[in-house]
Amino acid sequence: MQTPSRDTIANYASTSGSSIGTDDRTILIACIDEILPQTQCRQCGYDGCKPYATAIAQGQAQINQCPPGGDAGIRALADLLHLPALPLDTAHGVTKPKALAVIDEQRCIGCTLCIQACPVDAILGASKQMHTVISQECTGCELCLAPCPVDCIIMLPETSPGDTHQAMVPSKAAANLARTRHQNRQARLARETQQRTQAYARKKPVTASSAENLAKDSIHGAPNAEAVKKAAIAAAMARVKALKLANTKPADRGE
Ligand code: SF4
Ligand code: SF4
Ligand code: SF4
Repeated sequence: MQTPSRDTIANYASTSGSSIGTDDRTILIACIDEILPQTQCRQCGYDGCKPYATAIAQGQAQINQCPPGGDAGIRALADLLHLPALPLDTAHGVTKPKALAVIDEQRCIGCTLCIQACPVDAILGASKQMHTVISQECTGCELCLAPCPVDCIIMLPETSPGDTHQAMVPSKAAANLARTRHQNRQARLARETQQRTQAYARKKPVTASSAENLAKDSIHGAPNAEAVKKAAIAAAMARVKALKLANTKPADRGE
């Protein structure tokens, strides 16, 4: 990995990141992201570690907003950016020992909400089937807890035989794995959105109003899942109505 030049860092420190060139900023983001623990928990207030790294590189976020990274992470960021090491901003949470999610499979109703919430695709399961967590891939982010309608997910401290060190910061290998899995998930979600958009476009004509609704519900020009679902239902109802009308005798239609 490239490291930012002295000039880039001096520039960052003196202008709070506002006057760094695009290439230097890209290098800086990668270096900051490398320090972050890749838990992808969003406690920093951003949608994952990379967006937080980007915000720091742009001078829009402080270096003390990542509870999983803790004091060691703040010190590493301060060293990189030649800034003073601040205490962790506990408004974003506190540093805790690493824990892993475990599903009580007897109580799981197979709703898939936890799968949708997991930022690193660490949960296996299918609709109406019990779900299970792949412990080696769980970052301990806790994002699956709140959506579970039957509260059957708990966090258990991660322990390995003879391990007395309970740090939340993962090993470099675990962080790299989490980064890759998160990137793969983001790419898959983007692909699925694109496929839904294309499938919707192929099904046209739907109705003028459903198309209009879809446009209204779209985010940044791409239909969201709910909008696509609504449009598909509207299209199916329109087709059934047209079929019924075609099978009705003219007299019954009042002609
Ligand atoms: S580990 Fe969580 S709080 Fe820290 S940068 Fe990543 S998403 Fe943000
Ligand atoms: S299983 Fe739960 S705690 Fe583990 S990474 Fe996925 S969402 Fe986070
Ligand atoms: S959210 Fe809870 S009930 Fe739903 S699939 Fe996950 S573990 Fe099972």
